Amino acid sequence: MKKKGQLIVISGFSGAGKGTVVKSLVEKYGYSLSISATTRAPRPGEVDGKDYYFKTEAEFRNLIDYNGLIEWAQYVDNYYGTPRKFVEDELAAGRDVILEIEVQGATIIKKQYPDADLIFITTKDVETLKERLAGRGSETQEQVEKRIRRAVEEAEMIDKYDYIVINDDLNTCIDTVHSVILGGKCKKERNEDFLKDLQENFSRIREV
Ligand code: 5GP
Repeated sequence: MKKKGQLIVISGFSGAGKGTVVKSLVEKYGYSLSISATTRAPRPGEVDGKDYYFKTEAEFRNLIDYNGLIEWAQYVDNYYGTPRKFVEDELAAGRDVILEIEVQGATIIKKQYPDADLIFITTKDVETLKERLAGRGSETQEQVEKRIRRAVEEAEMIDKYDYIVINDDLNTCIDTVHSVILGGKCKKERNEDFLKDLQENFSRIREV
């Protein structure tokens, strides 16, 4: 039987740079990336079907009703959700899939996929986060404040994650996240069949 892919959830405060980290992980290491559905309006340069599937609230509701999402959550003023089919197909095909989602969604995923790796990316402190959010200029002052307030709530939920990675230097952060994923693949619980075969294989030596 083909080994299933690993499900990896990457979350982080808005402005912590997780989008850039995820993009690089896909480009550099070939991870498969789930594209979410959202009711948020596209930002300049964002493309439907590439960055998100942009939906009306009615369309989003429809996806929920037809069990088309593995998880969904409200974040600030909009809804976001993970389309089910892509993730299930990719995992079944043995590919490692990254979900870039917020903390409520991550919690739901861990319940449905207890073997998923939950990774949280953070700045080293809240001051750095504020500077980065204000500096990127894609949100209004009011939206920035809402995102900071949300980050304060999210900070209380970081202990639900398996790994915490500080994004101080971008390249270090990318390679650390990749190493964390590779390390996770070596856990003995994830290699029980191989371990059994290996022990049998070695035990044969004793018999000769
Ligand atoms: P943004 O509006 O900045 O693109 O995303 C806002 C937040 O929604 C981010 O924390 C992002 O990770 C999260 N998000 C994006 N897609 C999903 C999703 O499918 N499900 C959930 N729960 N959160 C998502």
